[in-house]
Amino acid sequence: MTPTNSCVFCQAVVPASSMEMTGHGWRRNSCTQQSELAALQNKGNMAEHLTQDELANIASSAQKEVVSGALLTFAGAAATIASLAIGFRGKIVIACAAAFLGGICLLFRGVSDKREAQSAQSQFPSARTMQS
Ligand SMILES: [Zn+2]
Repeated sequence: MTPTNSCVFCQAVVPASSMEMTGHGWRRNSCTQQSELAALQNKGNMAEHLTQDELANIASSAQKEVVSGALLTFAGAAATIASLAIGFRGKIVIACAAAFLGGICLLFRGVSDKREAQSAQSQFPSARTMQS
């Protein structure tokens, strides 16, 4: 009898000889190929490499980036408007506008990271537990 194992990513039961060991357990070759294709297309999935706790940490710090980014965007915009209203020109206005733009970047990065981490969490919930 050929030894079989179930793939931690798709749960298909296939001969162990057509699988490889990953950090989460056995993965069948076709899932490996799909993963490599996705990586080539820049659509890599966090769930393949990170544990549930690590994904939760990423989602949590991304949420902090969203809040910090929103505050920095608001403060930068207010400071830019205020410095222009007072009559400042030049470096002070540029610095305030840079804070505003930095805030927007942080906000979008946080939203993107949080979305990716949450998607990874929901996509492979069963991949988080080792199967024998
Ligand atoms: Zn699979």
